[in-house]
Amino acid sequence: MTARILVVDDIPANVKLLEARLIAEYFEVLTADNGRDALDICDRTQVDVVLLDIMMPEMDGFEVCERLKANPRTAHIPVVMVTALDQPSDRVRGLKAGADDFLTKPVNDLQLISRVKSLVRLKTLSDELRIRADTAQSIGIDDPLRLSEGRLEEAAQVLLVDSRGSSQERIIKTLKPIAVVTAMSDPQASVFDAAENPYDLVIVNGNLDDYDPLRLCSQLRSLERTRFIPILLITEHGDEQMIVRALDLGVNDYIVRPLDPNELVARTLTQIRRKRFNDRLRHSVTQTIELAVTDGLTGLHNRRYLDSHLKMLFTRAQARGKSLSVCITDIDRFKQVNDTYGHDAGDEVLKFAMRVRSTVRGADLACRYGGEEFVVVMPDTAADVAAVIAERLRGIIESKPFVLKGAGVSLDITASMGIATAGRGFDTPEQLLKQADLALYQAKRDGRNRVVAAAA
Ligand code: GH3
Ligand code: MG
Ligand code: MG
Repeated sequence: MTARILVVDDIPANVKLLEARLIAEYFEVLTADNGRDALDICDRTQVDVVLLDIMMPEMDGFEVCERLKANPRTAHIPVVMVTALDQPSDRVRGLKAGADDFLTKPVNDLQLISRVKSLVRLKTLSDELRIRADTAQSIGIDDPLRLSEGRLEEAAQVLLVDSRGSSQERIIKTLKPIAVVTAMSDPQASVFDAAENPYDLVIVNGNLDDYDPLRLCSQLRSLERTRFIPILLITEHGDEQMIVRALDLGVNDYIVRPLDPNELVARTLTQIRRKRFNDRLRHSVTQTIELAVTDGLTGLHNRRYLDSHLKMLFTRAQARGKSLSVCITDIDRFKQVNDTYGHDAGDEVLKFAMRVRSTVRGADLACRYGGEEFVVVMPDTAADVAAVIAERLRGIIESKPFVLKGAGVSLDITASMGIATAGRGFDTPEQLLKQADLALYQAKRDGRNRVVAAAA
């Protein structure tokens, strides 16, 4: 893993020490000895993680952190506060300023490297999502970053896995103002529960009876339905090995006993916010992909999708020695519908052409190819079968009149089809479509409302 780490500390010896350890792990290191320079570097260059000293003259670490988080260009950079003061109040202040983590001086090597690695991993993921979200924005989808600003609009759902009743009660009470907590004491049952419910966070208490808490964490990380739920681990003071292994497994954060209520609330909130932010990003990415391959009017796949997907189906059919047929459908005298009833009425007819989709098998690919032309790709389908399917489709369009709600009329519509089958000398997808298109023109010339197969 290579990443660029910015070390900020006013004491040169501290900078040197951290720099040497990070370089030994092949990180690229930038340094600054004051807050202003640090802000400037983050603003101008690509930084993956900031290690930030708290006590500095002029501008202290809290203020630097606040400013980084307030600038949209730098808000996503993870910040680790490096502090000599192991005071809960400082941690809470740091979390309020937006810090993602803490290290206490003298900095422990294992913790330093595992924390930095885990934050770099997280940042790599969210960077990728951000890039895709930018694409989404450029084609007109709302900015998910803006939508997720700060507040929690729905009550957060937290699953607490803890084998002691008294500690469950204390945590439920502490988190009551910010989350609905479901407590469970059986770790196995909790994995199923986490998979079936929309939790924003799982808190695992490390002192489970007869069960390795890290096993639970790793199960949550490996299951498809739980791998994006953040995990907060509660550990004993001094249980360093466990923390390092936990972070390596992908546990998002940890908190050390005795629990400071403010710190627990702050860390819980940070994880929930981040989860919701990433959910939104992921949702917008999915939306982008769907929009890019879907025709807005009919909901069928669009031509772009057909072009890439047909190639794949074609190659696969050839490799397996299977047949592959395509059918191009063109509505007859469609211009007249527009001319007589208006363009909107025409659109309504096209929407009804969804009949195409419901007529064919699930494995078949139905797309809107152009204005009033549709293509159905049928894998594993020989020419004679394709002819039967096309004929059925033609019959369905002809026999059921299209009812236009807007114009209050019922229209008889017909369509013509051209079909072609691969394996008869058409050696590219383009040639296959071309043959089907020529057959379609023949159907039009022969009088419309009919199916013509490309000559063998
Ligand atoms: P034929 O195919 O039987 O030869 O006659 P046609 O009138 O259907 O053929 P032509 O290709 O000349 O016209 C197609 C018409 O489809 C032209 C255009 O106005 C209409 N059209 C294309 N896309 C859309 C659309 O998205 N919505 C509507 N309402 N009409 C469209
Ligand atoms: Mg037409
Ligand atoms: Mg046409």
